[in-house]
Parts: sequence; structure tokens; C-alpha cells
Amino acid sequence: MQGKSIPYGRQSISEEDIKAVVTTLQSDFLTQGPRIAEFELKFASYVGAKYAVAVANGTAALHLSAMALEVGPGQRVITTPITFCASANCVKYCGGEVTFADIDPDTYLLDIDQVRKLLEHSPKGSYTGIIPVDFAGRTLNMEKLGTLAKEFGLWIIEDACHAPGAYFMDSQNERQFCGKCNYGDVAIFSFHPVKHITCGEGGMITTNNESLYKRLLVLRTHGITKDPAMLQENDGGWYYEMQTLGYNYRLTDFQAALGISQLDKAADRLSRRREIAAVYFNAFKEKPYIRGQSGVIDGHAYHLYIIRTAKRKGLYDFLKGKNIFPQVHYIPVHRLPYYQALGWKKGDFPHAEKYYEECLSLPMYPTLSGEEQQYVINCVDEFFEGN
Ligand SMILES: *Cc1c(COP(=O)(O)O)cnc(C)c1O
Repeated sequence: MQGKSIPYGRQSISEEDIKAVVTTLQSDFLTQGPRIAEFELKFASYVGAKYAVAVANGTAALHLSAMALEVGPGQRVITTPITFCASANCVKYCGGEVTFADIDPDTYLLDIDQVRKLLEHSPKGSYTGIIPVDFAGRTLNMEKLGTLAKEFGLWIIEDACHAPGAYFMDSQNERQFCGKCNYGDVAIFSFHPVKHITCGEGGMITTNNESLYKRLLVLRTHGITKDPAMLQENDGGWYYEMQTLGYNYRLTDFQAALGISQLDKAADRLSRRREIAAVYFNAFKEKPYIRGQSGVIDGHAYHLYIIRTAKRKGLYDFLKGKNIFPQVHYIPVHRLPYYQALGWKKGDFPHAEKYYEECLSLPMYPTLSGEEQQYVINCVDEFFEGN
């Protein structure tokens, strides 16, 4: 066991995945072709949304969503400090300002009551949107957040990079799948190798709003349209118009082929993640040295399995010595030098900072074997027995 290194997350690539990519490489389409539309349809149906737009990566999905929602100078958007910095950066790309609200110390998700407080104590119209994050694979109560957003006239971009297949139970006791967008404007996903589904790099935006959908398609390809219904003039079959400033944020067809093939196994792999979570939970539930266990949570997609301990640095170093590579998710965004230079500082969000001091993400990926997981558990126990 010592010989093989165990990372906190990794991709699972099957023979079918490889075949799908090779077949597409031998076809007429390398960049955006028929596999893109197929991937979009299949992904939209996986999360239950009307429309999906495939893009180059999750960050591009955030950027295009912020553009489509017309984020601009003078606008302020609220997000959580416990996320990957891209969730906040998309607002800066568009010239807007980021405000953070603290996390709920039990769920590690954006605290909706803190968001409400912020909105109620600011002049009307101070904020234009909210970017909640389904952190670690746990879905925020989007119904509750959606009600608040409506009350204050805000849009929502749900950063669902950690949570394809996750759901929460709404007030009607129905499963609301993450990315279904019943309570938000758009949701975004990433297909980076550590996420549930990978395209190498890749991203997806889901929405039920047709006009946002159309705007996203145009923004993905330079702001160019060829749709005769949208053209101001028409010189002939070759003619196109660039009507707005967009980007090249396309996904390639062979990446989409990989995504389609990955999606076939997504539900099984999600079940495997939930099994792994249950094994960790049972192994640690009676260990007083590990805190923050909230049980095996219904609907959680377990992108990450997080434990908390005051001896986090010691445990991290000890596990590395055992060829196990846990990770810390995340350094609070407001503590990163770029955001500190904008005025945020240590102490601004006590729950996020306390969480950051203690959190550690243990290996969690579908191909983690039972034997490997037991080795991880034994090593964690060994560290605490000696410390
Ligand atoms: C991975 C991730 C992103 C960015 O996705 P990329 O595909 O790496 O650009 C954004 N937000 C969260 C929460 C992520 O985990």
C-alpha cells in the first residue's frame, strides 16, 4: 500500500471513454460539432434543466453567465468565501465588485440568513446578484435562497461544480436536483479531472431561460451570429454578424465525446462516492479527535469528504509521509492577496476562517478501493494515537 500514492481526487477513464474520443478524432469534426449538441442535451436531461451550453471550462461558464446577466461596473455581487476563487473572479472579469457573506458553520455553505442581513442593512439596489456554491457536493436550499433573491430583485448563478447529481428536498418534499434551475437563473459545472465528470477541461451552463440561453450561445463564439432572424443585414450564405463582444469559449467535439461517455457512468460513480462517504463516517463517528461530522447526508454528491481537526497541519504532513495526499478546500477567497488588496482582511468572516483552520479533504473518488480507503483510515487513526 505504501508504494502507491493516493490523491484526494482523481478521474476515472474507461475503455468506452477512450473509444469515444478516438472515434471522434477520426470524424470530420474536431472543434464544436455534433457531439456538442448531444452532450448538451444529455447533460440538460441529467440535471433536469431545459437548456445546456457546453463551454471550455467552469471558469468560462462563470464568466459567460456573469456577462449574460449583464454584470458591469458599479454592480455588487454576493458569494461565499469558502469556494474556489473562480466563483468570485467572474464578477471582477466584468468590472463588478464582489461582496462575501459568511458560511453556516454546520453546512459550510453560504449562510442565507447572513445574506438576508446584508441585504436588509444596505440601501435598496446595492446588490444585483448572488453566486451560491454547492460546496463539497452539498446543495444549498435554493428554494430559500431563491425566495430571498426574488424579494430583493437579484439574479442567481448557482456554482454547481461540485454537485452534478446532488439534490435537496424542497418545501413540497420533492427532490430538487442541482442545476435544474427552478430557483436560480443559471447553474454552472466544471469538467476538470477532479470533478464528477471530466472532459480534461470543460464546463457547462444550464438554464430554463430561453433568452439567456440564446445570449450564451452567441457569447461563447465571439458574439457572432449567423441566425437569419437575428441579422441586421444579409449579404449571402457566408454572412455573419458580430453583434456583441464575446469570446472563444468553445469545447471541442472530442472533449464532448468524452463527456457523453462519462455521463453514462455518472450515476454509478455517484453511488460509489456515497458508499465511500458512509465508510468514512462510520470509521470516524466515535473518534473524539475528528469534528464536524454531520452524518451521511441525503442528496450530497460527495465531491469532497471533509474532516475537521485542530491538528490539521500535523495530520496533513503525516499523511503525505504515508503517500496519501489530502487537500485543503479552501483558503477563504477574501484572504487571498488579490482580494486583500481590495480591502478584505483576516477576521472579516469568522466562521469561514475557523473552518479553514481545521478542514482537510480526504481521498474521495470512485476508483478508490476498499483496501486503499482502509489504509487511509488506519493512517488517520495512527496519527491521532501518536499525537
Ligand atoms: C473547479 C471549480 C471551478 C472552476 O472550474 P474550471 O473548470 O477549473 O475552470 C469553479 N468553481 C468551483 C467551486 C470549482 O470547484
